Amino acid sequence: MIKIKFLGAARTVTGSSYLVSSDKKKFLVDCGMFQGIDVEERNYLPYDFNPAELDFVLITHAHIDHIGLLPKLVKHGFRGPIYLTNETSAVAYHLLLDSAKIQENNLRDSRWRPSRGKLIYDTTDALETIALFRPVKFDDEVNIDGVVVKFERAGHALGAASIMCKVDSKIIYFSGDLGRSEHPFLQPFDLAPRNADFVIMESLYGGIYHEQRAETIAKFERSINDIFNRNGNVIIPAFALQRTQEILYTLKKSYQDKQINKLEGVNLDSPLAQKITEVYTHSIFLNNSLGKDLFEFEQLRFIRNPKKLTRSKFESSIIIAGSGMCEGGRILGHLNKYLPDPRNGVLIVGFQAEGTLGRELLSGAKSVTINKKSVPVRAEIEDFLGFSAHADHKDLTLWLNRFDKKNLRKIFLVHAETERMDAFIDKENLKNSAYAPEWKEEIVLD
Ligand SMILES: [Zn+2]
Repeated sequence: MIKIKFLGAARTVTGSSYLVSSDKKKFLVDCGMFQGIDVEERNYLPYDFNPAELDFVLITHAHIDHIGLLPKLVKHGFRGPIYLTNETSAVAYHLLLDSAKIQENNLRDSRWRPSRGKLIYDTTDALETIALFRPVKFDDEVNIDGVVVKFERAGHALGAASIMCKVDSKIIYFSGDLGRSEHPFLQPFDLAPRNADFVIMESLYGGIYHEQRAETIAKFERSINDIFNRNGNVIIPAFALQRTQEILYTLKKSYQDKQINKLEGVNLDSPLAQKITEVYTHSIFLNNSLGKDLFEFEQLRFIRNPKKLTRSKFESSIIIAGSGMCEGGRILGHLNKYLPDPRNGVLIVGFQAEGTLGRELLSGAKSVTINKKSVPVRAEIEDFLGFSAHADHKDLTLWLNRFDKKNLRKIFLVHAETERMDAFIDKENLKNSAYAPEWKEEIVLD
């Protein structure tokens, strides 16, 4: 008998983690951190299974809501192998060390909510986790003591995979986070026809259609030009994995195509994003025909000394810094400096969870608190959520249609708010075949 338990991303977006158990094996697919004020308490809950009894873990991709609790698992006794793609391994290394460091630093941070006033894990736990990584190639079948797994491209970030698991002759597919069917530099998700008994599928944008990338980019260029024309600077809070590289690629191309005038400098002020950009640059898995300098251009500077940047005066420049939701990191110093001046602009290019400073800015706050100080918001705040790295309704359907409907027994929808999953079920007429499990619900796959 095979069972699956939905430990996270069930009727919510973050905390992806699924416990699969058969008579012989027990393993996790993803081990993500919960993010956002309504669910982050769950990161501190004790396990209702023994991590030491798990045989192995499979990881779809390196975003923190998919890997962020791996060191907690190790801290509580897990010692098995962690399978992930080569590229995911390279970026997860940086992300886990950074996650531990953020927790250690944030104990002193003013925006640290009391509920987070203890460490989930530290740098030692993160290092022990990294030592358990077993990188594999895309599309290789790996036999783990009788469970056959295969990582196929998901097109969502460098290394991101959907995972096929064959357990006791049943085929279970985990979509992971799916990217968009067209992308300027990532290979899109695999569309080869497949058979599966069960599919566990993200549905973040069920019922929603993204605007065309060209439209988002045109708006982005217009905003930057407007801000530069009034001698302001552009601040972009960005996630280190995928969004930063997407923005650098866009800026380079827009400047080369003369769609942005007088760009004085682009300052990448995030040590994590710098490291991950280097992994992207060196990855042989990117489409080589695009050349190897995808993210390099004359005005780009990797900032080593943030104090120098905070002290210096400039115009017509862009600062990209983390964290992506403005919850900590170097972005806070820049917001403190640039928010009070109406010539400046803050361009929000990624999802902002409830309760974060990024969400506060997006919802039009007239002043915000940074490092216990009230800061007036006079800079222009604009959102460009069209940069999303997630499949929209059309792409989700495209991916799902690769499976032979005759053999598919159930689709489990995850990684979305209930409203989005309902929209997906309605639009695709999946009432009898799709189901959105509750948090911690356990289901027998028969
Ligand atoms: Zn992701």
